[in-house]
Amino acid sequence: MKTKLVVVGAAGRMGKRILALATESGQFNIVAAVERPDHPDIGKDAGLAAAAGPSNIKLTGDYPDAAADVAIDFSQPEAAVATIDYCLQKKIALVLGTTGLSDQQREKIKTASRKIPVLYATNMSVGMNVLFNLAGKVASMLGEEYDIEIIEQHHRFKKDAPSGSALTLAENICKATGRDFPGSITYGRSGKEALRQQGAIGIHAVRAGDITGIHSVIFGTLGETVTISHTAHTRDTFARGALRAAKWLVGKKPALYSMTDVLGIL
Ligand code: NAD
Repeated sequence: MKTKLVVVGAAGRMGKRILALATESGQFNIVAAVERPDHPDIGKDAGLAAAAGPSNIKLTGDYPDAAADVAIDFSQPEAAVATIDYCLQKKIALVLGTTGLSDQQREKIKTASRKIPVLYATNMSVGMNVLFNLAGKVASMLGEEYDIEIIEQHHRFKKDAPSGSALTLAENICKATGRDFPGSITYGRSGKEALRQQGAIGIHAVRAGDITGIHSVIFGTLGETVTISHTAHTRDTFARGALRAAKWLVGKKPALYSMTDVLGIL
């Protein structure tokens, strides 16, 4: 049976790839392709806009009334909040990939997950989820003599900084090593008194050209450096993860799930 899917942020970089790959897989019925109401492509064929060939779905500014199983949202924080409300109202599953959420918005996800199945992940790729887990383990194995710095690199169009994935890396390291999160984070450094604080986790955001996403965690001490790193070559890595999550999530009981649950990798 095909999964009835609503895509939010449908004309965005991620939304287009989700539409294209969902169509290509033959496993989804696209119920609606939702965009911001003032987007110039509203009313156009969503399939053509996504370079996936013609479809009978038009980009729309409204959440659909028609029945759906799951929504995938890669948009922006305010829109993600509206998507949560839509999913709650329709009692359908939600895969949320939008980053840059405030504490209040993250709290809303938790509250919603008591009523509907929600998967929230700052990164939907298999490799990055392995790195999330590895980062905490490496930090505990190396111990407090190793300074930890996270460098994330993304394309020039990315709005939020640092990336949600850099924050997840830091959060996992904090959990594994008993550091305070986000209290232990230093965001970049500048000035005459910018000496590294013992135990701090530095996060640095690089924005250049069309970099899809590179995350490196550097563990440095006197005499050696260990670096673990992940490079995404294409957004399809995230889009495939989101579609896999959507298939997995439908029919699950209300709870907040992670990619770890979907991938069964840990
Ligand atoms: P993008 O700017 O290309 O796309 C976002 C789309 O959302 C735009 O087309 C925009 O018009 C649309 N939008 C804005 N307001 C809306 C509204 N009210 N209703 C519906 N749509 C609305 O950005 P992108 O590169 O596709 O990334 C989108 C989000 O996904 C970002 O937060 C990004 O950090 C995140 N992201 C997450 C992952 C992951 O694996 N979790 C991977 C890549 C990107």
